[in-house]
Parts: sequence; C-alpha cells; structure tokens
Amino acid sequence: MIVKRNPDEFLNYLNDTSGLKAGPVSGVYIPESTEEVSEILKQASERGEPVTVSGNGTGTTGGRVPNSGIILATDRLNRIGRFMSHPDGTGEVSVQAGVLLKTLQTEALENGFLYPPDPTERNAFIGGTIATNASGSRSFRYGATRRWVSELTVVLSDGTVLIIPRGQYVASGNEFDSSIQGRRVRFTIPDISMPGVKHAAGYFSEPGMDLIDLFIGSEGTLGVITEAKVKLLPKPSRFFSGIFFFPEEQDLLAFVSSVKTESVANPGSLTRLNATSLEYFDLNSLGFLKEKYPQTPDQAKGAIYFEQECNPETEDGLLEAWFDLLVRHNGLPESSWFAQSAREEDFFKEYRHALPALINEFLSKNGVRKISSDIAVPENKFSEMMAVYHRFLDESPFKWVIFGHIGDQHLHMNILPRSAEEHDQGKLIYLEFIREALKLGGTISAEHGVGKLKVPYAEMMFGDSGLKEMARVKRYFDPAGILGRGTVFPEKML
Ligand SMILES: Cc1cc2nc3c(=O)[nH]c(=O)nc-3n(C[C@H](O)[C@H](O)[C@H](O)COP(=O)(O)OP(=O)(O)OC[C@H]3O[C@@H](n4cnc5c(N)ncnc54)[C@H](O)[C@@H]3O)c2cc1C
Repeated sequence: MIVKRNPDEFLNYLNDTSGLKAGPVSGVYIPESTEEVSEILKQASERGEPVTVSGNGTGTTGGRVPNSGIILATDRLNRIGRFMSHPDGTGEVSVQAGVLLKTLQTEALENGFLYPPDPTERNAFIGGTIATNASGSRSFRYGATRRWVSELTVVLSDGTVLIIPRGQYVASGNEFDSSIQGRRVRFTIPDISMPGVKHAAGYFSEPGMDLIDLFIGSEGTLGVITEAKVKLLPKPSRFFSGIFFFPEEQDLLAFVSSVKTESVANPGSLTRLNATSLEYFDLNSLGFLKEKYPQTPDQAKGAIYFEQECNPETEDGLLEAWFDLLVRHNGLPESSWFAQSAREEDFFKEYRHALPALINEFLSKNGVRKISSDIAVPENKFSEMMAVYHRFLDESPFKWVIFGHIGDQHLHMNILPRSAEEHDQGKLIYLEFIREALKLGGTISAEHGVGKLKVPYAEMMFGDSGLKEMARVKRYFDPAGILGRGTVFPEKML
C-alpha cells in the first residue's frame, strides 16, 4: 500500500470535473488488495475519520471531491481476471475497481466479447462506473451498468468484506434478512419511490430487490467496491452508424419516435431496423459543431446520430430501411451521412465527442461554469419537457445547447453563461427545469449521480422524509458515518 501525506503529491486526487473545491485532507491511501481496503476502513472507523473513495475523477458532480479526512484511491486495484465463456456464447470476467473502462472494453473485444455499458468518458474506472450506475449512448439498447454486474465485493466502513452474487440475497417484500459470510444483514429497504426512467440519483429501492442493487449507484456512501464480476455479450459482427440531419425539429422528433417503436418491436434483430444508440443534437449544438466541421449542413435544425448492429449479409438492407425512414420523416437525405468505413465511423464518434470540448473552450474564454442538466423523463412526457425547455430558453438572453441520449428521453441541457450575473439567472431557470421534470415523473440525474453538486435537487426529488429513509440505511451499513460525507445527503443530516 502507498500512503501519501504530502499535499503536493496528491493534488490530482482532490478534484473531478465538477469544479468543486476540496476541503483539508490528511492523506491519500492507495491499497493493493481488498484486505488492505478493509484495514484502512476499520482504522478510519475507529478514529471517526471521513473517507472519500476515489475512482479516476471523471465524475461531474463532486462525489470524489473530499470535504475532509482521508482519500481511499482505487488506482492499484487494477487487475482483470480470465475471460470465461458460457455455452450460449456470452461471457463473464472478474475485474477490480481501478481498471479503466476502456481497458475492459478493449480486452473484452480481444477475447471475443462485448462489455456493453459505454459512458462517453472511457477513462472512468470500472468501480466509478458501478458506484454511479453509469450509462451511455448504447444504454438505449443495453441498459445502464447495473444490468451487467453479476457479483460485487464490497468493503463496509467497519472493515467487513461482503461478496454479493446477484440473485443470492434478495429482499422479502421490503425486508432484508440474510446471513452473508457469517454477518447477519437485516434492514428495511428505503421507503422511496423510483421514477420509471433511467435513473442514477439516490439509492435503488424496490420491493423484492437484490442487495447488489443497493450498492450499485450508491456513490461511495455505503461501502467501497473492490471487485466485480461483469457479464459480457458475444462480440457483434459489426455496427454501422449514421448522422441524419433534419430541417424541422418536429420531423426529427417524429423520426425518433418511429425508430423507438421499430427498435422495441425488433429487439436484438440483425435484419430489421433496431437502434443500439440514438443521440440528439439541437440547432445550437450544430452551430458549435459547424465552427469545427463546416460540412455540417446549413439548413439543418437538428441531427440524430444512430448506431445499429448488423452483419455483412444484412447491412445493405438495413441501410435502405434507415434511409427510407429518413425520407418518410422529411429529413435531408442529400446532406445526411452514413459511415461506410471504419474511418468514417471514427469520424462520427469524433464529431459526437467534439461538442463537450467545444463548449468547454467557450466557457473557459468567459471564465464561467456551465449549468448542465442530467434530467430524464418518462417517454410519454418527453414532448412536454421539450416544450418546457423551449418556453424558457427560446426568448432568453443565454447561449445554450441541448444534446444527448434521446433514446432514453435523457438530454443534457447546458446553459453557457457569459458572466457571473448570467450564471445566477441561469441557475433559476435550471431550478424550473428540475421542478417540471419532477412533476412529469422524471429524475434529477439519469447518469451522473447526485454527488455533492446536486444535493439540493436530491432534497427536491426525495423530500426530507425520502432522504431520511435513505440515511437510515446509510447509518446501518456505515454506523461511523465516515464514507462519502457530503455526497447524496446534506452533511448535517448524518
Ligand atoms: C466528458 C465526459 C463525458 C461523460 N459521459 C458520461 C456518460 O456518457 N455517461 C455517464 O454515466 N457518465 C458520464 N460522465 C461522468 C463520469 O465519467 C462517470 O460518472 C464515471 O462513472 C465516473 O467514474 P470515475 O472512476 O471517474 O469516478 P470518480 O469521479 O472518481 O467517482 C465518482 C463517484 O463514485 C465513487 N466511487 C468511485 N470508485 C468507487 C469504488 N470503487 N467504490 C465505491 N465508490 C466509488 C466516488 O466516491 C464518487 O462518489 C462523463 C464525464 C465526462 C468528463
């Protein structure tokens, strides 16, 4: 184990991408095994010293930014086990928390498998993606990280190590009562309601739930994930992708609706239209992209990036099906793009990923932080949410963009203030969006988690009673109250 006490040596552990500032930290512990994690936590519990778990710091909401105490960094828990095949062609592999997502994805492909979760930021650690239940553009087809985790090794704050295979420790109604490796685990699940959308805020809670799901998405507040077994699919033959441009937003939205209907009707099909990813760019996003990619068509008011799995026999027929749908929905067939080579596919990915970087350049010129939403709403409320965005933003003085995972009704609305005053005004509008999304049965966070930045919105979503219900479970697993202080809950609540 490495222990760093000199602040100059651990500056890179004090932030993530939220811009939040860290409090005083007395040291960074970098264990190399679950046993060392257990020892660190046991001693910290005895001292009552707060512990913030650090993944790779790509989080956007400040979960790994410590308020005080010590940091437990997972960098050296970085081993991947042997890839195991099942008779049906799927697979499974054990992976430690500090393995990079991109390493797991690449090694899975090299071994003939696909690890389906694909958050855009591939430099996240697997532990971080499990702790935040990360998702990405392919979650339209494959769901969020949760679906792919089949076993977790978690260390509780008193040093107890729990190995939790999926399916083994399940609540009876609202009650858990299991003996796990000699420790009795008995509690009532939090009495909170879950929105019926992709969701990454607060603890998972559902009658009859699996204990593993409580720890997935708990953002380092219930235990330290040291290792996981994850499920793998057989490596697909190939994907093809396209970027379709539309002159009217209403036509684009009708196109998305048709793609979703067809994809639901043809799950997993390699012969019928069936999207893996569906991503949206609004007019203002295209304005940013045009600065770098002048080939972006002038008459486009919005665009959709899509991806579909196929094989060499079905590719041509599928290209035709997508093209017909574009024409039927009054898209711009002459100006839209299909990737017909690996180089073009890479270009589409570059085009899609360039937007956040272009936005960040704009922000750093103005020296202000963006106001960024992570809201998702139920499918039948999506057009209402879009109308709310336009009602507040169309006539506003702000520069703004909306883009993201339209397949899951999950868009990132970004207000890009040009001054501190605009930042304050933008925050008020953002609050309106949160209020409307909650009224529509949505979530404050579909993928980034609550962290520290979104605690006030978690209070709006769950209310005082809902947060207290989750805090009750947190106290059960972390009686010393040392893990992830200030994350998910207001510090004063614990
Ligand atoms: C450009 C960009 C694009 C992004 N795109 C996406 C996207 O498409 N989808 C998405 O979901 N997210 C996205 N993110 C957010 C981020 O990448 C994810 O939240 C990611 O899962 C964080 O992983 P990390 O290892 O960096 O965790 P960190 O930022 O280090 O930590 C995140 C939280 O998890 C906790 N934690 C970390 N490791 C453990 C562990 N082993 N045990 C217990 N708790 C732990 C931390 O305490 C903290 O609360 C994006 C971020 C950026 C900067």
